[in-house]
Amino acid sequence: GRKVLIVYAHQEPKSLNGSLKRIAVEELSKQGCSVTVSDLYAMQFEPRATRNDIVGCLHDAEEFDYGMEAWEAYKRGSLSSDLVEEQKKVQEADLLIFQFPLYWFSMPAILKGWMDRVLVQGFAHEFPNCYDSGLLKDKLALFSFTTGGSREMYAKGGISGDIRYLLWPMQHGIMHFCGVKVLEPHICFAPEYVSEENRREMLIAWAQRLKTLWNEEPINCSPEWYFK
Ligand code: FAD
Ligand code: ZN
Repeated sequence: GRKVLIVYAHQEPKSLNGSLKRIAVEELSKQGCSVTVSDLYAMQFEPRATRNDIVGCLHDAEEFDYGMEAWEAYKRGSLSSDLVEEQKKVQEADLLIFQFPLYWFSMPAILKGWMDRVLVQGFAHEFPNCYDSGLLKDKLALFSFTTGGSREMYAKGGISGDIRYLLWPMQHGIMHFCGVKVLEPHICFAPEYVSEENRREMLIAWAQRLKTLWNEEPINCSPEWYFK
C-alpha cells in the first residue's frame, strides 16, 4: 500500500478543514494506503527556527547561522527530535497532503514553520540537488486548502488575482525546489459563505477526487502554469 502523510493545520476538528482531513484519512485508508497525520496545532508544533533545533554544540557558536547549523546538525544526526520525527514521516511518504485554511495569501504560520524547520538542507535539498533533482524526488504533494474569498475574487481578472499566483511560492518555491512533484491543488472557496448543502458537495467532491488520485499526472510546475 502507498504511504500518505497529511500535514494538517487547523485548530478546530469541527471546521471544514477538519472534515476535509477526516475524509482524506477515511478514503485513503479504505484504499489500503497507510495514512499518517501531523496535526500541527494538536502537537503544539514549534514553528520558530531557532538554536533549540540543534542538540548540543554548534558548528559556529560565534555567529549563529540557522541554515548552516541545521544542515550540519542533520549531517551529524543532532537535530531536535520533533524534526527528526517529521523527517521520518516525510521520508516514508509517497504523497504529502497539506490541509489548511488560506492565511494572508499563504499558509498558516504553524505550517510555514513546519516547512522552515523540516525541509532542512541535506535532507530535502542540497545544491545542486534542487528542483527536478531535489532530494525528495519520487514523492508527490497536494495542497488542499480553503479560502475566505470567492472563486470570482480569485479568478484571473478578479480583485485578488489568479489563485495560481499564490501557489507559486508553496508549490514551486518549496515543493518543487525539494524535488517533489505537485498534483493539482484542491481548493474549497469560501466555505463560510455558502449553504450547508454546498459544503456537503465540496466534501463529496474531495472524496470523489481521492478515489482516482493515484491515476493523476503531476502538473507541469513551471512559470507558465502559474503566470501564463
Ligand atoms: P469553517 O468556518 O470551519 O467552515 C465553514 C463552515 O463549515 C462551519 O460552519 C463548519 O461548521 C462547517 N462544516 C464543517 N464540517 C462540515 C461538514 N462535514 N458538512 C457541512 N458543513 C461543515 N481568506 C482568503 O481568501 N485570503 C486570505 O488571505 C485570508 N487570510 C486570512 C488570515 C487569517 C489570519 C485568518 C484567520 C483568515 C484568513 N482568511 C483568508 C479566511 C480563511 O481562509 C477562511 O476563514 C478559512 O479558509 C475557512 O475555512 P475553515 O475550515 O476555518 O472554515
Ligand atoms: Zn515548479
